[in-house]
Amino acid sequence: MNIILLGPPGAGKVTQAKILVDERGMIQLSTGDMLREAKTSGTEMGHRVAEVMNRGQLVTDEIVIGLIEEKMAGATGGGFIFDGFPRTLAQADALGAMLARHGEKLDAVIEMRVDDAALVARITGRFTCATCGAVYHDQTKPTAKAGVCDVCGGTHFLRRADDNADALKQRLMEYYKKTSPLIGYYYAKGSLEVVDGLADIGAVSAAVRKVLDKA
Ligand code: AMP
Repeated sequence: MNIILLGPPGAGKVTQAKILVDERGMIQLSTGDMLREAKTSGTEMGHRVAEVMNRGQLVTDEIVIGLIEEKMAGATGGGFIFDGFPRTLAQADALGAMLARHGEKLDAVIEMRVDDAALVARITGRFTCATCGAVYHDQTKPTAKAGVCDVCGGTHFLRRADDNADALKQRLMEYYKKTSPLIGYYYAKGSLEVVDGLADIGAVSAAVRKVLDKA
């Protein structure tokens, strides 16, 4: 089974993807994670990618399609969760073609619908464990013990360079200009499902589970 988690920054795509990886052994393909890895590679491409990402703009279709193609070629079983990809109509077309080449199809596109004002609050307090990737929030989901990850006991945390109010405005603009047309695109293809991304994590994952079980 292959699915897309679609929604603006801060909609909860990463949190839900991690739950599906744990529960169903699916493979999370996050272009954001792949690009953050490329950013630290010290290559010319890494520097270019870092500049674009830190401004909150989209990296070129060619780069992200290439990254996804590479990862899909090396992965087997489990089914894919596409998280943060596709973000443009060209990427959506390319994904359809890639899946067809692998003899696969998309089973569901889950739009995680959220209110814009809530996103700003969610994103600006977000941090993750550097060791296991668990996601926290200063106000709504702090660690139980200050400075120690609840999941793995790690003591090193990361805040993304683009999780600030200015970059977020740009990321939202990119979402509405270039990514939100995908909602109509997948609706017309008959694969769109909508969940309320503002519900608590357990309720969102129950809604996601329901979509997957009937797909
Ligand atoms: P994310 O972790 O999904 O929020 O992505 C962080 C940043 O990486 C985005 O703001 C873009 O700069 C870049 N990025 C991630 N995925 C894509 C994509 N599919 N197409 C273009 N840029 C992307």
